[in-house]
Amino acid sequence: MLGRAHLIRSAVLGLAAFAGALLPLHAQDSERAIAIAAELSSQGSQSKLTLTLSKRVDARAFVMERPDRAVIDLPEVNFQLDAEAGRRRDGVVQSFRYGLFAPGRSRIVVDLAAPATVGRIETVTRAKDGAVLMTIPLQRVDREAFRKASAAADPSPAPSRAAAAATGDPRPLIVIDAGHGGTDPGAIASSGVFEKDIVFGYAQDLAGKLNAAGRYRVQMTRDRDVFVPLGERVRIAREAKADLFISIHADSISSAPQVRGATIYTGSEKATDAESAKLAERENRADAAAGAEAAEATPDIADILQELTLRETRGFSSTFARSLMGQLTPVMEMSTKPHREARFVVLRSPDVPSVLVELGYLSSKRDLEKLQDPEWRAGVTGSMAKAIEQFFATRTSIGRPETATRRSAAIAPVSP
Ligand SMILES: [Zn+2]
Repeated sequence: MLGRAHLIRSAVLGLAAFAGALLPLHAQDSERAIAIAAELSSQGSQSKLTLTLSKRVDARAFVMERPDRAVIDLPEVNFQLDAEAGRRRDGVVQSFRYGLFAPGRSRIVVDLAAPATVGRIETVTRAKDGAVLMTIPLQRVDREAFRKASAAADPSPAPSRAAAAATGDPRPLIVIDAGHGGTDPGAIASSGVFEKDIVFGYAQDLAGKLNAAGRYRVQMTRDRDVFVPLGERVRIAREAKADLFISIHADSISSAPQVRGATIYTGSEKATDAESAKLAERENRADAAAGAEAAEATPDIADILQELTLRETRGFSSTFARSLMGQLTPVMEMSTKPHREARFVVLRSPDVPSVLVELGYLSSKRDLEKLQDPEWRAGVTGSMAKAIEQFFATRTSIGRPETATRRSAAIAPVSP
């Protein structure tokens, strides 16, 4: 009897020691598994990804083609991995990403260097400290077998969000879209910093300033480090009947490290230049990179009225882009052509003026330094708030007849 109690106690102590020594546990994390290490190893045509976890979790894997990747779905896991963990190439593994894919669901996306299928995922408990080792075997297969496996896969649909409740609040609604998130890190600086984390800081800062001003309603497409599909970002803005949509990014152009400075993009079927077209193309692949279905193409606009609305909306988008340019130029370095157009999926709402701000490039050392400077960030978000102020002060109507009343009410001065 005593012996058994002692054993249980040691096991519990062992776990506590494991958690205490390696993981600064927060109260809310006590139920979530924590991943503290990820190791890759390869032998012949088989590679293995082994995760060290604080407890057992269920895992479900499938593969997807174009680009070739293996996806492992998990319940929400608190990843505390080394920043470099996913960037080593080994066997069939090109690299891997991980993060929150939807509330309560985490995901690991393995970019494959060659077609491979996922074998039986096994977990064992390490006796010395109670850690759980989960091994994900990846077996190299030929293209035909991979195609069959990916066709059989049934990726769970991207999460859908309830539409924002309609409010009687007449203040203009600004939707702030922090680029990337969760399994999609966006650009990665050579120092290992993720675009998703940098831009989230700017989005939060801007939201804080607008909320403090009290003249706007503010909604964020993501309020934490979670993956949100591109189409969902557009849907959030349209369903909430946003008056302005601002997407914030900070990309990298590895082929041109000399390119730096900020650029403001508005949507257009035709890109200003090849560089803008390439950037939009890369951004539009974000869903696929996160292990979700690629963003669906927007249907052709056949309706002449809708086309007129779109044209008018794009006019408003350009007006805002210009006022943003005016406000940002004194506080930050702009790229050689600061206002450009390109076919970004997130800029395709026919009825919500939308811009995408590239704050700078993670590939430029100087840009990266500035982007991470809180003082600089405060200046930039302050100027963005000023541009918003200017936009709503001068705007008359947006030409959406059914909402004209609401919109003219929206621009009336609001007493504090
Ligand atoms: Zn981006």
